[in-house]
Amino acid sequence: MKGNYLIFGAARSGLAAARLLRAHGFDVTLIDEKPASAFEQLIPELNTLGVLWHFGNIAEEFLRGKDVLVLSPGVPVTHPLVSAAQRLGIKVTGELELGYEYAKCPIVAITGTNGKSTTTHLAAAILKAAGYDSRAVGNVGSALCGAVGNHPSPAQREFLVVEVSSFQLETIQAFHPRAAVLMNLTPDHLDRHGSMEAYRDVKYRITENQTADDFMIINADDPWCLPLKDRTRAHVLFFSLQGEVSPGAYLKDDAVWLEMDNRTRFLACSEIPIPGLHNVQNVLAASLVGVAFGVAPDAVTQAVKAFPGVEHRIEFSGRLRGIEFYNDSKATNLDSMEKALLSFNRPIILIAGGRDKKSDYTTLSHLIPGSVKHLIVMGEAAPLIRRAWEPLVPTENALDMREAVHKAHAVAASGDVILLSPGCSSFDAFRDYEERGRVFKNEVRSLISEMGDVEVADAP
Ligand code: ADP
Repeated sequence: MKGNYLIFGAARSGLAAARLLRAHGFDVTLIDEKPASAFEQLIPELNTLGVLWHFGNIAEEFLRGKDVLVLSPGVPVTHPLVSAAQRLGIKVTGELELGYEYAKCPIVAITGTNGKSTTTHLAAAILKAAGYDSRAVGNVGSALCGAVGNHPSPAQREFLVVEVSSFQLETIQAFHPRAAVLMNLTPDHLDRHGSMEAYRDVKYRITENQTADDFMIINADDPWCLPLKDRTRAHVLFFSLQGEVSPGAYLKDDAVWLEMDNRTRFLACSEIPIPGLHNVQNVLAASLVGVAFGVAPDAVTQAVKAFPGVEHRIEFSGRLRGIEFYNDSKATNLDSMEKALLSFNRPIILIAGGRDKKSDYTTLSHLIPGSVKHLIVMGEAAPLIRRAWEPLVPTENALDMREAVHKAHAVAASGDVILLSPGCSSFDAFRDYEERGRVFKNEVRSLISEMGDVEVADAP
């Protein structure tokens, strides 16, 4: 067996690949273009594992004596080291493909531009509710290589539900999901893929190894997704927010319907705990994953009703005297902010701002008067957002998250929603959007415990 691996990219995926390969006794070298100082905390573990490492300048000589080059999703296939490896006859693969080689159970793969994480978690929850040992993996948490390491024995009733990005699909060869979902396709990562057509073609690769025994679940409303129905060998299921589809699931009369051999109304939209029409779409797609594997509609319904949502995506974060707090820190662009604003039919006190992404805030101006009652702006983008929306809504600045939460609460009344949906990246003041979301939730918790005490003290 060939056994000398070079892994390019020392973030989560590359590390998971290194651990997996060392556990199987292969020689592993891990490289990254970032300097060694960026990996100080990692180096002791690499040394203990027996992984060789080179950080900083990447040179072709690292390929000497190697059998396989494993790319992390962040490394473009156009990198000169990749063409050098191909010239030398070294096999080039990706972390997803490597994880797949070692997976002992069926894989469900979820891809698309938006809604991947939510659908991945929900599909895993639905399969779990039906008694399967299922886990959500991929971008959502541990890399596939890390998850297969934890599932060493074959098991009949096991599934791994994997969130798959277009970058990972670039390097698949045998990757073969038993069910796959294509959520939607809108322009994204075009700097790497070159064009919308090239981005679509990479996403379509999710089905390239599927057979007639598998399922391909497709968004029938999306003109970039629908043509996949004629390019797959798998059994196709459709989902739609716009009209009846068959076989598949759709939204009609404020309810989710399932049309397979017969038609079943299996969930009212009011029973879906995660807010917004986009989440109805995620429910449709995830439900079909369950249905594809024979989960009874009742079990699907129960799992959806109990689904808590995914952290930082319009995540319910607390309630104080009829005021509800939501953390949507993952909304790092205006598309996501728009989804959040459309998800509530109650007055919103919006906390927005962070590092601007050259966004034109006026594109959402039409939504502000009807949905936002008060605006708190913070971070580097504060003056830009203020300029766009101050004429439309009372606006205040906040210096930090604590001040933002307190100012929002000061103007809120029972029945209002206080929503952190920044529409900007977090890098002006936080390590990432997760840290920003956690800081928001901590401030909400401490406000509730401060004010909660007052409420108790005031009670007769
Ligand atoms: P992803 O993993 O693809 O980034 P998430 O489930 O993490 O998707 O959701 C991220 C953001 O994308 C959400 O906060 C929401 O604004 C938006 N979103 C979620 N689901 C959908 C969907 N089905 N269609 C369009 N936008 C969506």
